[in-house]
Amino acid sequence: MFGKKKVKGITKRTLGMIMECAKDAHPREFAAGMREIDGLISELILIPGTISGNRSALLRLHNLPIDYSMVGVVHSHPSHNISPSSQDLNMFGKYGRIHIIVGWPYDENSWKAYDWGGKEISLEVVP
Ligand SMILES: [Zn+2]
Repeated sequence: MFGKKKVKGITKRTLGMIMECAKDAHPREFAAGMREIDGLISELILIPGTISGNRSALLRLHNLPIDYSMVGVVHSHPSHNISPSSQDLNMFGKYGRIHIIVGWPYDENSWKAYDWGGKEISLEVVP
């Protein structure tokens, strides 16, 4: 349902956008869908109300439009802890196969990628 093509990386620009959105939402959580083009995560699918809303961004995931190029979800943790919570693991299984968690201070080192089961995976950052 979420596409079968291998995803090998994420564009530097998309990662930068994620960090900007996470900073804007801080100290609340930010969440968005991620779209893959030619094996690279290249676009975000923004969820209405995510940045300005004061409820948990993850609770708004059901507002995501149906989009078969979506590979998974990125969300932020307003802390240094970028391990998936049990709520996250639940969500990972439902919303795709690649997930990214970014944490404070939202820089190039404060993120990790996980598969649908919560296992850490490596994603190349492509210029
Ligand atoms: Zn989380």
